[in-house]
Amino acid sequence: MPHRIEELHRRFDAELKQVTGLEALLDLRDRYLGREKGILSQELKRLGRLPKDHRPEYGRLANQLKDYIEGEIQSLTARLRQQEEAERLNQEHIDLTLPGRAYPTGRPHPLVLVKRQIEEIFVKMGFTVVDGPEVDTDYYNFEALNMPKDHPARDTQDTFYLSEEFLLRTHTSPVQIHYMEKHQPPFRIVVPGRVFRRDNPDPTHSPMFFQVEGLVVGEAVSLADLKGTLEFFLRELFSPDTRARFRPSYFPFVEPGAEVDISCIFCRGTGCRMCKMSGWIEILGAGMVHPKIFERVGYDSQTVSGFAWGMGVDRIAMLKYGVDDIRLFYENDLRFIEQFS
Ligand SMILES: [Zn+2]
Repeated sequence: MPHRIEELHRRFDAELKQVTGLEALLDLRDRYLGREKGILSQELKRLGRLPKDHRPEYGRLANQLKDYIEGEIQSLTARLRQQEEAERLNQEHIDLTLPGRAYPTGRPHPLVLVKRQIEEIFVKMGFTVVDGPEVDTDYYNFEALNMPKDHPARDTQDTFYLSEEFLLRTHTSPVQIHYMEKHQPPFRIVVPGRVFRRDNPDPTHSPMFFQVEGLVVGEAVSLADLKGTLEFFLRELFSPDTRARFRPSYFPFVEPGAEVDISCIFCRGTGCRMCKMSGWIEILGAGMVHPKIFERVGYDSQTVSGFAWGMGVDRIAMLKYGVDDIRLFYENDLRFIEQFS
């Protein structure tokens, strides 16, 4: 009966050729080599029914075929596994040798750094950070701050007018009026923001720059409070040994008014080019809020008093970082901007 085995051999070879995947191969293996119902197991069971002298030869051939099938299935399994692995790798294709993509991380602009530092110092003293509109009316920017239409102080703040009524604010002081109209004392606020003036750009002028305004209003707020607050602030901002000097000055919305100088941070007061040999650097303007301002927002100027100040963030940043041209802050040259942290 060897031709039965030969036929099985041919059938297996033909079926093996059809196999394209591992799953089909496992089916084929089960069908031929399955312990109970496998074709080959069935075939070997027939052995007992054969004439005695045929049995050894038939058994040998059947076992030979079994070995052959096992071998073929093993080698095809290995090939298919390799092939599947290659396909998977090809699909997933991640080249681990490629260098990673560098994501540039941003950092705060030097003016933002200084603004934040100023805010932090005042927040520590119990101030609230407040902001207001950059486009405002003539009333809030000038009139309400004691600068009527013909007031000479208007000339010092060359203004971008948008219309007869509207303008780009020339200082952050109008926010004082907006705030007082909506709140009752006592309060302490600090107001950072952009301001605009029709200045031609040069090393110390920019048509847009940043100010921080401060306002404290309550009962019995005194000039001593103003001095103490600003001295503390300036020591925190620059260094603990910074000295402050108050010189009488005039601003329409305060009475009395003062310019505040700090001991030169470059020469510690001995005199250098930066302080024009005076040992002092002008840093901000301040004063006690003019009673007329309080009356305009409906406060009783007999019982309420307060102080205010304003300063340029750009100027402070220039001093702190030793920058000698304000325009550098606005040119967006990363080589410059990335130096600060
Ligand atoms: Zn100096």
